[in-house]
Amino acid sequence: MAEHSRQPILSGQKALVVGIANEHSIAYGCARAFREQGAELAVTYLNDKARPYVEPLARELGAELLLPLDVSKPGELEAVFSAIQQRWGELHTLVHAIAFAPKEDLQGRLVDCSAAGFSIAMDISCHSFIRMARLAAPLMRNGGTLFTMSFHGAQKVVSHYNVMGPVKAALEASCRYLAWELGPQQIRVHAISPGPLRTRAASGLKDFDQLVDEAARRAPLGQLVDIGDVGQLCAYLASPYGRHLTGDTLYLDAGVHLMG
Ligand code: NAD
Repeated sequence: MAEHSRQPILSGQKALVVGIANEHSIAYGCARAFREQGAELAVTYLNDKARPYVEPLARELGAELLLPLDVSKPGELEAVFSAIQQRWGELHTLVHAIAFAPKEDLQGRLVDCSAAGFSIAMDISCHSFIRMARLAAPLMRNGGTLFTMSFHGAQKVVSHYNVMGPVKAALEASCRYLAWELGPQQIRVHAISPGPLRTRAASGLKDFDQLVDEAARRAPLGQLVDIGDVGQLCAYLASPYGRHLTGDTLYLDAGVHLMG
């Protein structure tokens, strides 16, 4: 019997992955899955302090581009897209896996959140995705897929999620509007909502360990997800298999969000 060779599902795709801080980052899980499925990668690092942690991972992934990106620094995002334009002239997939809120606002009650803290959290964690979509769309001439990362605290009250609840709610709503606006160009937009994962960003939330324990205890599937699971879901959605899905928040939490 002839052997069937299975073509990687993202072969020929070019993907930009933003948000790798270290090997625990959700963005790293996405980059690894994309690479395994044949995509070529561009990855970014926050600043010179972050670079030594990201560079070895970029090398291991065979990333073609490694670029600095702090979305709050004017011009850096534009520079990333112009480097992609020069190198590839096209883009198929983008992962936005970044979030930030000043510590005092993140760890305090929403009712006490400062205007400045709210605005920084919204700008870095939500509006930067809109800016990325604007810059990515002209490079996605034959369609593409945009991903961002949300959390259940966007839709339900999760204790200690605080200001990030309304920020992620805005992010999920932005996905729906971007899906509508960019749909005619065959650009699909997804918010992935993973269950709790032990990453650096998560360690800034108060009582995060308790959230993890509770998720493991309440999940119908009795398990926690890992960054490889997030990567595989994104790889599937970025492939032709996901071609009719857009605009939704996709839960990847072993069923925790179903529980009352
Ligand atoms: P992480 O700390 O590994 O990644 C967060 C990334 O945000 C870092 O790479 C950091 O450099 C980047 N970042 C922060 N400010 C930035 C800026 N100004 N410009 C560019 N990049 C900036 O943590 P993670 O958990 O992988 O977080 C990725 C995303 O996943 C976040 O949106 C987070 O809210 C979301 N998420 C995390 C969990 C979880 O439990 N860890 C669950 C659901 C959703």
